[in-house]
Amino acid sequence: MPSKITNYQCPACTGPLRFDGASGKLCCDFCGSSFPVQEIEALYQDKLDQAAQAAVQQQAKEEAQAAAGTMDEWEQEQIQAGMKSYNCPSCGAELICDATTAATSCPYCGNPTVVPGQFHGMLKPDYILPFKLDKEAAKTALRNFYKGKRLLPRAFTEENHIEEIKGVYVPFWLFDGQGDADLHYAATKSSSHRSGDYMVTVTDHYDVRRAGTVDFQRIPADSSRKMPDAHMDAIEPYNFSELKPFSTAYMPGFLAERYDVEVDECAQRARRRAANTTESIIAGTVKGYSSTTPLGKNVLVRRGAVKYVMLPVWLLSTRWKDQSFLFAMNGQTGKLIGDLPVSMGRYWGWFGAIAGPLAAILLAIFFLL
Ligand SMILES: [Zn+2]
Ligand SMILES: [Zn+2]
Repeated sequence: MPSKITNYQCPACTGPLRFDGASGKLCCDFCGSSFPVQEIEALYQDKLDQAAQAAVQQQAKEEAQAAAGTMDEWEQEQIQAGMKSYNCPSCGAELICDATTAATSCPYCGNPTVVPGQFHGMLKPDYILPFKLDKEAAKTALRNFYKGKRLLPRAFTEENHIEEIKGVYVPFWLFDGQGDADLHYAATKSSSHRSGDYMVTVTDHYDVRRAGTVDFQRIPADSSRKMPDAHMDAIEPYNFSELKPFSTAYMPGFLAERYDVEVDECAQRARRRAANTTESIIAGTVKGYSSTTPLGKNVLVRRGAVKYVMLPVWLLSTRWKDQSFLFAMNGQTGKLIGDLPVSMGRYWGWFGAIAGPLAAILLAIFFLL
């Protein structure tokens, strides 16, 4: 039976290929050759088709076995645990992956492997945003992130080791849509003037209504259960003008997951974002009043086209005092976010530095009076 996975190997020396974001080419670190994506794509098309076909047949076989109750125990256990196993075409080792793994590398021979069956038929992404920044850029970004964080315990930055760093193509849905908002306020404008001994305040009352439509394009929502949504939202935005038609040739050297959160579930998140943005844009046009009181609102979001895309993310995990800290970096723009521990000693020290002079100034004012 043909293999369900494909290794991307250097056509010159059969060394492992990796996609290099800076040059946009596939590179071999063994012999130094590099190849345009299209060339490797053309070379591997047949192998990818065969592997996808093998995966489809395997799926059908498993389903038939499961229905007939003839599946062996080991296979059944794996499926129940959400795992899949493959044989590395280079060294023959058995690779056990999550059921959603779409690209990885063989831990034994180091060859990058892609599982084309994960991108077949309905599972085929529309676009991919290739990595632009490499591992070194991610490490540098993390160091810079620590810099200037005055509340960070010194020991954290000194002892801190990056435990794991991986480049992952994360599956996202991109939603187009339209938001309609109909907003209603009671508003006032007041002005005061002196008239003889009296202060006269004139208040005009307004019935303010605003209605408008906001168009949205490509609101991203990650569709992998493993990825923390807050991290994924925080490393936006991506520049989607650089999206490429999907190809697995951008994946060697990186990990990839296929989606496991359906469109409708992600649509809730995208809808909420679209509704909030629509409301704040339309509400932002209500200006120049002394007071506004909301009386009613009606916000409606209509969903348009949905695209399935793979976006580049560097994940860095560090450990300190038995705690894990996860950082995520946008693989295109370098925007990095993550959680940091806060040193209480330093917090108060820092607070004191500000509070001290402030108290001195207050004291000086007091004495001047
Ligand atoms: Zn080579
Ligand atoms: Zn191998």
